[in-house]
Amino acid sequence: MIDFTFTEEQEMFRKAAREFAENQVAPFIPEMEKTGKVPDGLVKALGKAEMMAVTIPDAYGGLGLGYTARLIALEEIARISVATAMMLQVFALGIEPIIKFGTEVQKKKYLPDLATGKRLATAAVTEATGGSDPTGIRTSYRKDGDVFIVNGRKCFITNSHIADTLTILAKNEANPKEFCALVVEKDMEGFKATHEEHKVGMRGCNTGELSFENLKIPKENLLGDEGKGLRVTMAAIGDVGRGGMVGCALGLQTACLEASIKFSNERILYGKPISNLQTIQNKIAEMKIDLEAGRLLGYRAAAIQDKGKPSSNEFAVAKYFTTEASQKAAKMAVDIHGGYGCMEEYAVSRYMRDSAVVGPSAGTSDIMKVIVARWALS
Ligand SMILES: Cc1cc2nc3c(=O)[nH]c(=O)nc-3n(C[C@H](O)[C@H](O)[C@H](O)COP(=O)(O)OP(=O)(O)OC[C@H]3O[C@@H](n4cnc5c(N)ncnc54)[C@H](O)[C@@H]3O)c2cc1C
Repeated sequence: MIDFTFTEEQEMFRKAAREFAENQVAPFIPEMEKTGKVPDGLVKALGKAEMMAVTIPDAYGGLGLGYTARLIALEEIARISVATAMMLQVFALGIEPIIKFGTEVQKKKYLPDLATGKRLATAAVTEATGGSDPTGIRTSYRKDGDVFIVNGRKCFITNSHIADTLTILAKNEANPKEFCALVVEKDMEGFKATHEEHKVGMRGCNTGELSFENLKIPKENLLGDEGKGLRVTMAAIGDVGRGGMVGCALGLQTACLEASIKFSNERILYGKPISNLQTIQNKIAEMKIDLEAGRLLGYRAAAIQDKGKPSSNEFAVAKYFTTEASQKAAKMAVDIHGGYGCMEEYAVSRYMRDSAVVGPSAGTSDIMKVIVARWALS
């Protein structure tokens, strides 16, 4: 039997996540929009509310609630702040290789502090020569006794300047077919966070570049087998990365729909609220249909992931659909607001800018179509 309802525990978790987002995330938005920086208090609040602990097994200090719960949390947080959800999404992407491929020693060393927010994680794969094609990266490693020596640069990395625990991908200097996934700590010799980006949207979510200059990483920090690191990072991007972007997109879709309903019920034209106009109703109906369909796709993929089954194809479908739908929803929400939609005091102008940023991360829509076509044709 297929059950399309959430459990009582999941409903309670959604309520708690919604309250957290409305009461503790929303107050930071003006500062985030103005400065583009991540407020310290926001990271502390996320840790205190156990939002970083959701996917970490309870044996390592986490909540062990799984991926459906994670999607619920991201959806609720993104409904208020896509920038905050993005920070949390890539945090989980950074820790997933430790959860799935880490040794017992690595798990005990990192996961408890990550669960409380004492440590902040990210995943650093993308480079100027390797985004859609991760095999194009040029960051290289060589073994020297008990250490890996890594040289290279990463770009577009979320949490680049605030993360202290990073899972990175590097290519064997001597064999470009071999990759290693490694845990880097920001205090390691040779690590530097360099340029910080200024994005059109998701302001207050830190994105930037990293430089590794003879970065020395102890061999104990290798994740999975030596030479097989591409699988380690791509496995995490396939479900946790794509799934996280689905959460960001669903929250954004919800925010657009809610703002449109509120505005169209309040805005009076021809003596009546504009929600009486057929064109406005059509847009609201389209947003609602896309949200319902996107939630079915996203939560189906998360349910499959929670069963421990492969879910990356289902997440590719959901990521394509929801990120495209969130861009459509933001455009329609701005249109419904007429001239007010262009004014910064209306949140829909922020939603429009944020919607421009949800697309590329964890793979563009073109790449999702490549994956889905491969799945369909297999
Ligand atoms: C806000 C933000 C946060 C990010 N955070 C992180 C992070 O934390 N860690 C990290 O490692 N990366 C991160 N990224 C990087 C992200 O994963 C890449 O931007 C994405 O994979 C696309 O790579 P690219 O930007 O190099 O584009 P390119 O790969 O250069 O693509 C350029 C264009 O070519 C198209 N294209 C490429 N290949 C194909 C193909 N085979 N078929 C059809 N079309 C194709 C693309 O769709 C796109 O339109 C982030 C990006 C953004 C925008």
